Amino acid sequence: MVEKLFRSDSYLFSCISRITSVSEKGITLDKTVFFAFAGGQASDEGTIGGFKVLEATAEGPEIYYKLEGTPSLQIGQEVDVKINEEKRMKIMRLHSAAHLVYEVFAKHTNIRKLIGSNVTEEKSRFDFEMPEPITPLLPKLEEESNSLISQNLPIKTHPDEKNPDKYWWVCGEMKMPCGGTHVHSLGEIGKIKLKRKNLGSGKERIEIIFA
Ligand SMILES: [Zn+2]
Repeated sequence: MVEKLFRSDSYLFSCISRITSVSEKGITLDKTVFFAFAGGQASDEGTIGGFKVLEATAEGPEIYYKLEGTPSLQIGQEVDVKINEEKRMKIMRLHSAAHLVYEVFAKHTNIRKLIGSNVTEEKSRFDFEMPEPITPLLPKLEEESNSLISQNLPIKTHPDEKNPDKYWWVCGEMKMPCGGTHVHSLGEIGKIKLKRKNLGSGKERIEIIFA
């Protein structure tokens, strides 16, 4: 099973790894900084052994990487793993912002159940069921979220005591299960803007972008 270095240090953008298997599904590594799509968070972009990663797939606790040009790599071989730092940083900021806005949203609406979420380097979003448009509440959510961001509370992550593959995101009183990558403080997110999207049939979406 791959050691997910992004769990303990989300600011690590490269590492030297050893190949542990080679198959049609791709290669696996003993350790990695390269995040594979999970929990709505987009995969990283980057290279392994100098070859572009076409696809990173999380399967249980394992991650498979498909590389461009089907290079002949061997089990046991050492490879450089490098990710696009700029993209990762934006994802980390927008992902942390999504947790924050969700907590502010849940406080005001009492809605805690989400029906979808997604994080890319351009925006993050979460979807929920609500018969009325969220529009009237949006300015308040944006203002409170930005106010908390300017307070710059630290963000911590830690493994679950019973299940070490499950991780927690913690910021002040806020706590959520999440195995994604985050910044170390709310201030790093920077000012954000919220947008509403009507998904139809009583479903609403809040989108978070950089202001
Ligand atoms: Zn998260």
